[in-house]
Amino acid sequence: MECKNRERNIKDCSCTYISCNKRGMCCECVMYHRANGEIPGCFFPKEAEKTYDRSIKYFISVWSKK
Ligand code: SF4
Repeated sequence: MECKNRERNIKDCSCTYISCNKRGMCCECVMYHRANGEIPGCFFPKEAEKTYDRSIKYFISVWSKK
C-alpha cells in the first residue's frame, strides 16, 4: 500500500540519503532505525545528519554540544 502522506513527508524530510526506499514513509523509517538501535536522520542537526551515523551514541554526543 502506498503511503498517502509520502509526497508531503518528502518535502519536509531533512535526510540527505536520497536513494533510501523508506524516504517519505516515516513509519517505516522509524521502525527500521529503531530496530537497529538508531534514530532517524531528521532528528539530527544538518551537519551531523550528513555523516549518516544514526546511532543513539552519536545523537547524544551531537546534541550535548549544542
Ligand atoms: S533516516 Fe534512514 S530510513 Fe529514513 S529516509 Fe533517511 S536513510 Fe532512509
